[in-house]
Amino acid sequence: MRIASAFSAAFLLTPAVPASAQAPNPPKLIVVISVDQFGANLFDEYRPQFTAGLKRLASGTVFRNGYQGQAATETCPGHSTIMTGSLPARTGIIANSWYDWSAPRADKRIYCAGDERAPGSTFRNYTVSPVHLKVPTLGDILKKLSPDSQNVAVAGKDRAAVMMSGHFADERWYWDGKQYVTDLKAAPVPPSVPLINAKLAKFIAMPQAPLVAPPYCQLKARPIALSDGQTVGAGTLGRAANDYEAFRESPDWDGATLAMAGALIHDLKLGRDKAPDILSIGLSATDYVGHAYGSEGEEMCLQMFGLDRELGDFLRALDSMKLDYAVVLTADHGVEDLAERVGAPRVDPALSAKAVGAEIAKTLGIDGRVLVGGTGGDVYFDPALSPDQRAKAEAEALRIFRAHPQVEAVFTKAELEKVPLPTGSPDKWTLLQRARASFDPQRSGDLVVLMKKGVSLLSKPGVGDVATHGSPWDYDRRVPILFWRPGMAPQNREEAVDTSNIMPTIAAMIGVRVDPKTIDGRCLAGISTIACPAP
Ligand SMILES: [Zn+2]
Repeated sequence: MRIASAFSAAFLLTPAVPASAQAPNPPKLIVVISVDQFGANLFDEYRPQFTAGLKRLASGTVFRNGYQGQAATETCPGHSTIMTGSLPARTGIIANSWYDWSAPRADKRIYCAGDERAPGSTFRNYTVSPVHLKVPTLGDILKKLSPDSQNVAVAGKDRAAVMMSGHFADERWYWDGKQYVTDLKAAPVPPSVPLINAKLAKFIAMPQAPLVAPPYCQLKARPIALSDGQTVGAGTLGRAANDYEAFRESPDWDGATLAMAGALIHDLKLGRDKAPDILSIGLSATDYVGHAYGSEGEEMCLQMFGLDRELGDFLRALDSMKLDYAVVLTADHGVEDLAERVGAPRVDPALSAKAVGAEIAKTLGIDGRVLVGGTGGDVYFDPALSPDQRAKAEAEALRIFRAHPQVEAVFTKAELEKVPLPTGSPDKWTLLQRARASFDPQRSGDLVVLMKKGVSLLSKPGVGDVATHGSPWDYDRRVPILFWRPGMAPQNREEAVDTSNIMPTIAAMIGVRVDPKTIDGRCLAGISTIACPAP
């Protein structure tokens, strides 16, 4: 059952008007690609190795110091910045999940791309929806201005597709673990979708031989034994028949999502009429490979070469369709490599909200739960605490967190509420400003706990989960931002810019004027073929 978005068309009051001076020769199809966990460290390292799609995209305008500026370097906040022109503090998508004590169900944990009003829904069993995204995407704005324009998304992850397309998507598809599905039940099913799903089922039913490692990847093959008994670092991404988990940890998944993207372009005739169309693509395999193996082993190397090849095939398919298109590629966040490979510490399990809460309960003689949350990031006080208990618990929590050698900073809601949204170069933002960029007074934790640089946010390795992101440090924040269009002059830009600038830059490319008061980003000046509006 589709749960209608809580927002009506009247919500889209963003005063968007066609630019008085139309963009010269705007492309007919804008393809926006987010590669999940493709941090700038990976882009910088592999750039000389790319020979296909990423080589082509890196021959346009390259911002190698792009930033997901916020402290909450997670998938949902990151994707929410790309097509809205806004920081997570404005999009409302402050994390992948948060707590809402007023939610109309027993499970108060809220999934960023779910609708908790859906009957029977829980955090894990959710109904996909854009309801929590507080702002329109460029696709939403474009459709209001130009009803013939199409706003389409396809991704490995539902939250990537939802956050990039927004409230008024024509089509939105994502992988549910077995096949590509949609939450837009009223939209017609493009004829290629069931065919691709059927082909994929047959493909995954076959065992896949290990990938052949190029010499660059062979040099990275170094097995690392982890405390849970698994060994990673020298894997080659082969898999057994019907191993759907391993499928997601391979470039095959990105290839499938790109095949879907190509099929949607064909079936929906994207880029074929005067009205410009937007296709948002979320490629999620890099994130799964990074979580399962880290970012500096043979496995990620094979994923990088595979991603390059798959993107090359996709761009060649677009060329063969003779479309006038432009591509923007970025990422939702980076990653910290495997702690055991780089000699980094793992976070002390005593710093989890549960453990610290239990310590406080014992000290204060509180019978029940005190803190709710994970390890680091947003931490909430249990709403059942009395005002007196709550005040004492906060003082105690601050004392415990701040005394711990792995904790860099703890900010309270009161502190964050006083800080203005950061502007300017995101590489210069203080930790408090980074935390402010992903702070929402209704959704964020009562405390935001930030660990020291280099501390792995996973206290121990598990299968498929050995390395992660989510810190306020640049290995998680810095991402590439690439603009490419045939005929665009190559340009390497060194200045730090955050991803909220992507949307107004694309808007300028297609001649859509967005009220600068409604977004955080600004059109990036000086890109060949893109004329920014006068301020
Ligand atoms: Zn992600």
